[in-house]
Amino acid sequence: MSTEQFEVVIVGGGTAGVDMAARLRRHFSPASIALLEPSEHHYYQPLWTLVGGGEATKEQSMHLEKDVLPHDITWIKERAAEFVPSENLVVTDGGRHLTYRFLIVAPGIKIDWAAIPGLPEALKDDPRVSSNYDYNLAEKTWRAVQNFKGGQALFTHPATPVKCGGAPQKIMYLAEDYWRIHGVRPNAKVDGFFSTGGIFPIPAYAKTLNEVLQRKEITMHFRRDLIEIRPETSEAVFRNLDAPDEIETVRYDFMHVTPKMFPPDVVAKSPFAVADGPTKGWFKVDVKTLQNPDYPNVFALGDSAALPTSKTGAAVRKQAVVVEKNLMSVMKGESLTAEYNGYTSCPIVTGYGKLVLAEFGYDDKIMSSFPFDTTKERWSMYMLKKHGLPVMYWDLMMKGLA
Ligand code: FAD
Repeated sequence: MSTEQFEVVIVGGGTAGVDMAARLRRHFSPASIALLEPSEHHYYQPLWTLVGGGEATKEQSMHLEKDVLPHDITWIKERAAEFVPSENLVVTDGGRHLTYRFLIVAPGIKIDWAAIPGLPEALKDDPRVSSNYDYNLAEKTWRAVQNFKGGQALFTHPATPVKCGGAPQKIMYLAEDYWRIHGVRPNAKVDGFFSTGGIFPIPAYAKTLNEVLQRKEITMHFRRDLIEIRPETSEAVFRNLDAPDEIETVRYDFMHVTPKMFPPDVVAKSPFAVADGPTKGWFKVDVKTLQNPDYPNVFALGDSAALPTSKTGAAVRKQAVVVEKNLMSVMKGESLTAEYNGYTSCPIVTGYGKLVLAEFGYDDKIMSSFPFDTTKERWSMYMLKKHGLPVMYWDLMMKGLA
């Protein structure tokens, strides 16, 4: 097998991979940058919340990968199957051997739909069960929201890391608002079953969100994990995470499920994976420089990186700047100066025209970008999410300019 040599290999052509490709083509000959991405489609996933709430179409969230990638880099439409860092080598699922001077790893998060027994069947056959965590299913969520005429509505958050930790609750608020506006709410009971210990880890945002829950008369059940769905009997089964023998079965007439998520297999089984602890299996990087501690020519960013902050596209926007600068420092033999502070942003939609913009960094430090109090619900921030951020994503971030 002959090897193909590149200056840079980027694994993943999602938010992080494209941002990095656009940045690095300014420093390297574009053709010497290889990007591995098997999909013909690129998604702006934050829009899926609004698709589920009928505020956007799924088509608005999708561009062809060929139109998003810099046209002059080398796009290899295969998956990374194995990392051999001792040889600066990536092996693809098509058997190609690619060597690199620098490696950037960004294959995102693995969604394991089958990890909840009954979920794949319910998503396929039960029109009342859906999830915004998929391009097509987000549209199904919207149909299910409109078809719900009363009874028990459930919203879940799993006991695994998830991308956009706010998304499981955003759709709960939107759906509740829709049912209120359309006269369904008096006939409905709305409950959230979340694995978390509270509605939000940062008190200033939690205060507002607890008021939202109270206003909307939503009952929350914390430290609960969905472990099975029985579509034939319309039942959801939950485990109490604080008393694992305690199992509760709840009937549903509508359910939005956030599936379990894990590190991608290619990362988890690689020498780059964190060996132990709470971030086991995720890509090992220095949390500030985003460099792999064992291989200085290797960086990771995005959802697959082992970083103690919320996994979002907004986080990627800040991480990409740091990876670009630090990679250039390695190339020049200088010490690394750029540091990521854990910045992430979670625009929590609390209803139609209402949004709490949570922005924070490592150790849950609030990092607001605005001169006014964003811990409150705001119409302006909803408009930013609906109209401003998609433009920023496609026109700036995907061109390495944000
Ligand atoms: P992705 O963008 O998911 O890209 C990963 C890419 O890697 C994919 O294209 C995939 O095909 C490819 N890939 C996978 N395996 C391999 C492999 N072995 N080899 C090569 N390529 C591979 N973020 C926000 O900032 N704000 C929000 O409001 C927000 N809301 C969200 C709502 C929902 C419903 C969802 C699902 C996500 C939301 N996010 C939000 C999160 C955001 O979309 C992700 O954090 C972001 O896309 C992460 O970028 P990434 O490049 O790491 O992963």
